[in-house]
Amino acid sequence: MDPSGGDHHLEEKEQEKQSIRKRRLGMSFFTYFVPFALVVIFYIQGMIYLNVVVHFAVYALLINCIFLFLFHTNRNLKFSEPSLTAPQMTASIIPVLYVMYFLDDGQARAIFMLIIAIPLMYGTLALTIRQFIKAGFWFLFLYCTMVAILWRNRPEALTVPLEFVQLMAYILVIAASSIIGGFIYNLRLKLRERNRELKEAIARIEALVNVDSLTGICNRRSLFEVLSQEVNRYSRAHGPFSVCIMDIDHFKQVNDVYGHLAGDQILREIARKISDDLRSIDCFGRYGGEEFLLVLPHTPLEGARIKAERVRNQVEALRFPDISEKLRITISIGVAEYRQQEDIDETLSRADERLYSAKRTGRNRVVSETKEQQ
Ligand code: GH3
Ligand code: MG
Ligand code: MG
Repeated sequence: MDPSGGDHHLEEKEQEKQSIRKRRLGMSFFTYFVPFALVVIFYIQGMIYLNVVVHFAVYALLINCIFLFLFHTNRNLKFSEPSLTAPQMTASIIPVLYVMYFLDDGQARAIFMLIIAIPLMYGTLALTIRQFIKAGFWFLFLYCTMVAILWRNRPEALTVPLEFVQLMAYILVIAASSIIGGFIYNLRLKLRERNRELKEAIARIEALVNVDSLTGICNRRSLFEVLSQEVNRYSRAHGPFSVCIMDIDHFKQVNDVYGHLAGDQILREIARKISDDLRSIDCFGRYGGEEFLLVLPHTPLEGARIKAERVRNQVEALRFPDISEKLRITISIGVAEYRQQEDIDETLSRADERLYSAKRTGRNRVVSETKEQQ
């Protein structure tokens, strides 16, 4: 594969991730409506002023616009955690704390603790335990800052025991959430691993389905797939195509003299030799035991005959020093061109007839027309 292709693939993957991040941002935007509704209810009950409601809405919009801008311009990719989940969680807590500051009643502030569960749930979708704990500390820090400011400016609004209980509840909820978040994170990791294994297994199965295990070239199944593609192409564009069936001469004898393993090695070497010298559109595969099929797209009978003759020569020139210096292997080849509207089996059987004509007339030869046609 060329490296630019690899980059392209990577880009596609990154783009997919970006669109997931944007969708997640959309989801997080809608979760702002929950605290917003609560803020409005507080307002209706006369517990906060209208400007606090407005500030909350403006702030919520602003944060989401900033994140959308970062995702849209791919600026988030510059961060070590490009999903920006922890910053989004932290940012979402600030308007909540802002409203809490303006509430006079400690109990009313406690209600807002509920709201904190929302960004925490959001975090469980994406964070590692470490990131989760970090976000938790940020939450805690911001919460304590809010209480500290409140203490300084309006100490009458604070009830110390209640505030202490609230703080403890806060810490416990974050601790429990990070444990659950960590569990979900591990599940996600396992799922990703399973997905990868599954993809690898499918790729292996696909290879097994199409490749002959002894020689590594196409098997009969994929040869027939190519043949049916060629027939379809022929009916659309009328481009000629031809097939060559090849059968090794006296191979039984070779097996008998040198053994079956030597026979297998010869099959592999012939397959490799012929495959090495093909156009990329040609398809060469193992048709049967020691029979091979060569499919030649865009090739009329005469071109196929010339190609078959070259293949025959190549096999004849092969040497097998590992088996025996004097071993010579030859093949006979029958060639046929596809004829309009015929079944592919008819083409193959014509090639087969010519192969047997080659065998009858002395082997180590190519026959592209039967005697009757000559
Ligand atoms: P001919 O010249 O007429 O083709 O004679 P032949 O002996 O080659 O006869 P045939 O084409 O019928 O050959 C079939 C033999 O090929 C049977 C078997 O010994 C051998 N053969 C088939 N498949 C394999 C294989 O996968 N490995 C090995 N080693 N031999 C095989
Ligand atoms: Mg045979
Ligand atoms: Mg044979």
